[in-house]
This record gives sequence, C-alpha cells and structure tokens, in this order.
Amino acid sequence: MRTLTELKFDNTYSELPSVFGTQINPQPLADPFIVSVNPGICDLLELDISEASTDFFVNLFTGNDKLPGFCPIAMKYTGHQFGQYNPDLGDGRGLLMGEVLTSQGSKWDIHLKGSGTTPYSRQGDGRAVLRSSIREYLASAAMHGLGIRTTHALAILSSATPVYREQIERGSTLIRVAESHLRFGHFEYLFYTNQHAELKLLADYLIKHHFPDLQQDDISTPNRYAAMFHRIVSLTAEMIADWQSVGFAHGVMNTDNMSVLGLTFDYGPYGFLDDYNPGFICNHSDYSGRYAFNQQPSIALWNLSALGYALSPLIDKALIDEALDTYQPQLQQYYSQKMRSKLGLAEKLEQDSELYSEMFSLLASQAVDYTLFFRTLSTLPKDALTSSIPQFEELFTCTVALSQWLQHYADRLELESVDDQTRLKQMQAANPKYILRNYLAQQAIELADKGDFSMVEQLLLVLCNPYYEHPEYESFAALPPQWGKELEVSCSS
Ligand code: AMP
Ligand code: MG
Ligand code: MG
Repeated sequence: MRTLTELKFDNTYSELPSVFGTQINPQPLADPFIVSVNPGICDLLELDISEASTDFFVNLFTGNDKLPGFCPIAMKYTGHQFGQYNPDLGDGRGLLMGEVLTSQGSKWDIHLKGSGTTPYSRQGDGRAVLRSSIREYLASAAMHGLGIRTTHALAILSSATPVYREQIERGSTLIRVAESHLRFGHFEYLFYTNQHAELKLLADYLIKHHFPDLQQDDISTPNRYAAMFHRIVSLTAEMIADWQSVGFAHGVMNTDNMSVLGLTFDYGPYGFLDDYNPGFICNHSDYSGRYAFNQQPSIALWNLSALGYALSPLIDKALIDEALDTYQPQLQQYYSQKMRSKLGLAEKLEQDSELYSEMFSLLASQAVDYTLFFRTLSTLPKDALTSSIPQFEELFTCTVALSQWLQHYADRLELESVDDQTRLKQMQAANPKYILRNYLAQQAIELADKGDFSMVEQLLLVLCNPYYEHPEYESFAALPPQWGKELEVSCSS
C-alpha cells in the first residue's frame, strides 16, 4: 500500500494532441472536508486508506494543493443528448487528474467531478453538490457490489463553497476512478469536426490501452477497427443485460454518458426499480420516456449506431452493420443467462419463455417489488412453493395468479438436476437482498446535509455486499414506503 506521493503515474491521455482536451487546474473549494472514503477503491489503487484522512488528500482533491504526478485535463467530447447532436460538450465540471499505475500493471483514471469551470462549462458553474455526489458514490458502489461493470468512486469531499441550484447547496467533489473515461462522444467529436486523423489516433489509443490483444500482426488494420467496434458492441450488450436483469434505469443514456468499455457511466437521475414497472421513467426531466427502463436495450443500440456512424471513416459500412447486428443476439443471450440464474434454472428449455412471460405479467399487473420477489423466491425450498407463503402476502395483492405461477415454477424445477440447497444458494448469489432504493439515498442525503454521514457509511457497507445478509441493517431491505416510490429526481445536480 502506498502514500499519495508514492503513486506511479502514466498520463497517456495528456500525451494526445491538444484537440483532445485542455489542461487546467481544479478551482479551490473553501474549507473542504471528507464525507466518505470507499476502502475497496483505495485497495484498487493500492493507496493506503490512512492517506485518505489526511489534510493533503482533502486539499489535493479540492484544488487547494498539488501532486506533481497529476496533469489535470478537461476532456473534449460531444454527443447526442435526447437524440439531438450537441457539439458543445466536454468535461464542463470534471477533470481527468491523472492515470495511476498499480503493481499489477492496471491503470486507473483519477477524475474529479465538481472541480470548477473549464472551457466546456457553457453556462454551468463547474460544480457538483453534495446530493448528486452522494448519489453517484453510492450507486457506483452498489453496481460494483452487484457485479455490474461501472466507474468507481474513491471518496466524496465537501466544502463551505455555496452552489446555487433550486436552493443553496454545498459545493462538493467526487473522486471518480475508472479504467477509462472515454465515451462514445469522444469519437463523435472527432468525426463531426472532420478530424479524421485524430479519430484514427483515438481508435489506436483505445486498442493499445484497452484491447491490446487486437494489436496482433495477423489482424489487418481495417479489421482491427472493426474488431474494436465489435468489442464495444459486446461490452454494451452485456452492460444492458445486467441493468435489465437487476432493474437499473440509467435515466440519461446520451451518447456522452456511454463508456466505450461498457462501464455504467455518469450517474444522474438513475433509479432502481421498486415495483416492477417496465415503463418506469426515473428521470423527471425525460418527458417522452425516451430513457424509460424498457427502452434501454433499444436506446443502447441507437447509441451504438451513432458511434458506428462516427467510426465510418475507419470501418466499412458493411462491417459496422455486421457488428451492430450482433448486439441483439448477444444482449438476448446475456440477459437470458442472467434471468435463468435468477430463477435457478441451469437447463435452458424451450418452454421457459412461457414461465418468464407469465412471471413478468404477474409482477407488472400487481406492481410487485422486483428485488424482494426474487430474493424471497431464493429462500423457498421446492416443496414450500405450493403451500401458502406469508412473505409473498406482503408483495402480492391477489395470490391466486401467484399460486398458479408457483405451481408452474415448481413443476419446472422438477426438470432440474441440481439439489434444492445448492439451487437456493446459487439463487441467493444471483438475487440481491439490497439495492440502492431512491428513498434510502434520499434519507442518507438529508442526514448528510445536516452533517451526519453515518447513513452514507451504512449504505456503502451493505451495498458493497448486496447478496449477503446484514442483520443489523435489515430495514434497508424492507419494502419502500409509498412516499419513497414517488420521489422525483431530475437532471439538476
Ligand atoms: P451530464 O448531464 O452530467 O451528463 O452533463 C452534460 C454536459 O453538461 C457535460 O458536458 C457536463 O460537463 C456539463 N455539465 C453538467 N453540469 C455542469 C455544471 N454544473 N457546470 C458545467 N458544466 C456542466
Ligand atoms: Mg455526462
Ligand atoms: Mg407493490
């Protein structure tokens, strides 16, 4: 484990030509303090956890001190927002501080979110508030705990700097950590500004650092770019399958919020499903439902097509289309694998689609809590399925249809060869007990606004291991209160 000054850097992005971004220092936040540090992310960076409670750490990430290894840069990108191309995007309140090397040869971007204005801030103040920093911090920990690819967050720092949203809030920063901060929008920027030599450079950069196996000599150059795009398609399909199976709605799937590594990226007005509602819209500013839960698979394909178009100077159209054509079948395959584990079905049988469609109509028609339904199911031995189940009585308004489905499910389980105990164990590893319910995040935020960060810590602990029992935090696994399902979250952060 290392101190901050012992970290090794390899700042590859800052070596790219100047059109890729602007070097600029973070603007200081006043009277900064630590809100929370995620020890697991310290481990990823091989950073000694005790470093994260030092004044140097706080000052460093609030623009009040400097580390020689850092080379802060606001990245330039563009993107499609709600379907419209916007040429004026970029890190408007974020900075890539540097890329840390670990002893294992991994490389991690350290990125500050909320570090002040940059040339890409447009009308914005370059700041982030405590509320939105907590939401991203907890969500990225929750997704990682669920086994879903995501950016990480090392820590939240806050300050006395006032930031004006609907009311005055505390200026805060999130220290984001990720394998890469490259977005679909990075490629779109170079394409739409006709910087095609730089577009090629960025593709080479992505391959070199993230898909190095594609550098082999036996892959010809045009095929290499096509293979790169195939990778992005696969990683995206897998990410979307993960989101759909766990009930995660991102809320703002603009192409500038899409990672080329299939990482869940830029947490804003996201939401985890409480009641199963396929048309769930978590973003209160999404009037048309473009980013509704059940639209995510097709929106991701739309975004991939936008990326494919931006890559057209490098890849033949036929090859782009060929890669795009693999999205749907891959998504289907990943998703069905996920959903089979959720029901504990090792075998894949033709008749299962009926079992699933009956289940989804049942969940939707009775607005059943998505997470608790599966978690409850993972605690019930086969012979308990056909008797009355008190845990389900809280979840279902009418249990007649449920009983029929459970009978169908019990019959289906007869065709499985795995013993009941093993099945239940596997199902519990596939069905989280804890998700980041919106109202829990809200409660943690309200306490934090009063200076009490204890609930942030408690949620962090539980969400990092959501498949395990945490008896002391049983209340975090409870059904949400009605008010908790009606909270409105919008883009303002
Ligand atoms: P987001 O909605 O967070 O994905 O951001 C979309 C674009 O707006 C990005 O270019 C951001 O950098 C920029 N942006 C968002 N909030 C701010 C802010 N408070 N100040 C400056 N730029 C911002
Ligand atoms: Mg964004
Ligand atoms: Mg309900």
